[in-house]
Amino acid sequence: MTKPLRWKRVLLKLSGEALMGSQSFGIDPMVVERIAKEIADAVALGCQVGVVVGGGNIFRGVAVAAKGGNRVTGDHMGMLATIMNSLTLADALRRHKVQARVLSAVAVPSICETFSQRVAERYMEDGDVIVFAGGTGNPFFTTDSGAALRAAEMRCDAFLKGTQVDGIYSEDPKINPDAERYDTLRFEDVIQRNLKVMDTTAIALARDNNIPVIVFRIHEPGALVAVLQESGRYTVVG
Ligand code: UDP
Repeated sequence: MTKPLRWKRVLLKLSGEALMGSQSFGIDPMVVERIAKEIADAVALGCQVGVVVGGGNIFRGVAVAAKGGNRVTGDHMGMLATIMNSLTLADALRRHKVQARVLSAVAVPSICETFSQRVAERYMEDGDVIVFAGGTGNPFFTTDSGAALRAAEMRCDAFLKGTQVDGIYSEDPKINPDAERYDTLRFEDVIQRNLKVMDTTAIALARDNNIPVIVFRIHEPGALVAVLQESGRYTVVG
């Protein structure tokens, strides 16, 4: 018998780098296909899924600012990068027979729909997967914050952060193999101990809206469904 889902409506956040695979830039189509399958499997079990993909595999505004460029222009370019990633993921989802919609915080009406909470709610109720593009639509924010905002607006039961590692550690486990891995943490622990999960704005938004944050490794086949069925390896921040 299929195990019941712990969370019925979720916001899945993927960094742009998650789409990069072993490349140093851009999008690896094989990785996108695999992630799309993970999402399709979750949808087949009745989960309502919203996805936010970052843009760091293509462009980050801070990189422009670091070289003396205009941060706002750089952030605009970063937001455009998230739209590119979102379009790719939505196409891959459609190949997996999932009805996918790209709703962007930045209006590019000849390419995708513009985000509106009411429209997004209707699509989610219908079981469509929404790929929220363009972050918050504002410079000086991150897609983690954009994802936390959408999770709150869409009243998601959980914020699932798919990363390269299987949870939150006391230190970077790649640098210190003896770093402690946590099963559960409180929001305050993450903020006070400055644990590298996501930026403080995003964590505070999740905390203020009582949305648990689950950190798991997205590159494990079946990882998303395992988290939804509470059988995977992950850290819950609540
Ligand atoms: N960005 C922005 N406002 C937002 C979200 C993103 O200006 O609300 C820009 C910013 O330049 C950021 C880039 O888009 O660096 C890509 O997003 P992010 O760094 O969050 O991507 P990730 O690290 O998740 O790949």
